[in-house]
Amino acid sequence: MIEIKNLTKVYPARDRPVTALDGVDLSVAAGEVYGVVGQSGAGKSTLIRCVNLLERPTSGTVTVAGRELTALSGRQLRAERRRIGMVFQHFNLLSSRTARENVELPLEIEGRLTRRERRAKADELLDVVGLADRAGAHPAQLSGGQKQRVGIARALAAEPHVLLSDEATSALDPETTRSVLKLLKEVNERLGVTVLLITHEMEVVKAVCDSAALMREGRIAESGTIAELLTREHSELARELFQLGPAPEASGQPDTTVLDVTFHGDSTAQPLVSQLARTYSVDVTILGAAIETVNGQTVGRMRIGLPGRFEENVVPIGFLRERGLNVEVVAADVAAGGTGHSLEEVAS
Ligand code: ADP
Ligand code: MG
Repeated sequence: MIEIKNLTKVYPARDRPVTALDGVDLSVAAGEVYGVVGQSGAGKSTLIRCVNLLERPTSGTVTVAGRELTALSGRQLRAERRRIGMVFQHFNLLSSRTARENVELPLEIEGRLTRRERRAKADELLDVVGLADRAGAHPAQLSGGQKQRVGIARALAAEPHVLLSDEATSALDPETTRSVLKLLKEVNERLGVTVLLITHEMEVVKAVCDSAALMREGRIAESGTIAELLTREHSELARELFQLGPAPEASGQPDTTVLDVTFHGDSTAQPLVSQLARTYSVDVTILGAAIETVNGQTVGRMRIGLPGRFEENVVPIGFLRERGLNVEVVAADVAAGGTGHSLEEVAS
């Protein structure tokens, strides 16, 4: 749905130009919710503004729904842009207008519907976002979460195939954030709208995204579906999504091999780890586990300790890998440390 190829953006400046995007490739499939994360200044906002060409990229191409936007100009571009909805961090509602009138605004600009049709459509959209009873309220009378719902209804008015959201929930409290995200996910599922969202919260990614990318210094450092990321070795995103902490420090005690075992889909690591313990009569210690349901899929990581040096554990590691688990050796020849629970304890 969104294809970004070798995108660069250099902001001119008298003293030193800023390269905000430095050869970005990104592919968002139709119907997915795609999250972009990264530190402040990484280029996330620039990237999203380049998707609807609110910002003109310096070079590279942006193709949305099969139309190469970077090749269009003027009227054609404006027409295509209408099908790309944008949800803003600070809502950008007109304070003089009611919720309904704010939602009607893009329809007025479009000029296709009659006054009555516009009103009916706005009411329908306010119903979709759960604000049917607040249609006549002005922004000042609405909470932050409600304002963002109006913003989403307004973005949907032009029946977009893509919804862009730049930190749409960062001005909201955690609970409101969750409900707005749930709404974005609902919109995605019910209306089939592809969503590209920027956030700095990994919780957001975990809650609603099908895929994610990590941006750093104007580049995509890592990207993929959540399931792919989770089973990718040395994935920074997976580590952030399922915080097991940094790899334990090598302490020089030659008695434990520490592994991060990742799994997704229907498999879970636990029964396999139990089986491993029984098959090889090894005393497996679970040092940490982050197992949860992401987008209806079981995904997670488990950090386990096996007695003995790495060389002594080649066979058990092979056992886990053969059964489809991703096994990353995070430390060998180190003490397990921590307050690990025995597997029996955790499994029961
Ligand atoms: P993020 O959204 O990840 O925080 P931005 O895309 O806002 O990142 O910014 C990326 C870089 O581009 C930063 O160094 C920022 O200072 C710079 N930048 C962003 N917008 C402009 C602008 N309009 N003019 C000049 N520099 C800009
Ligand atoms: Mg930003």
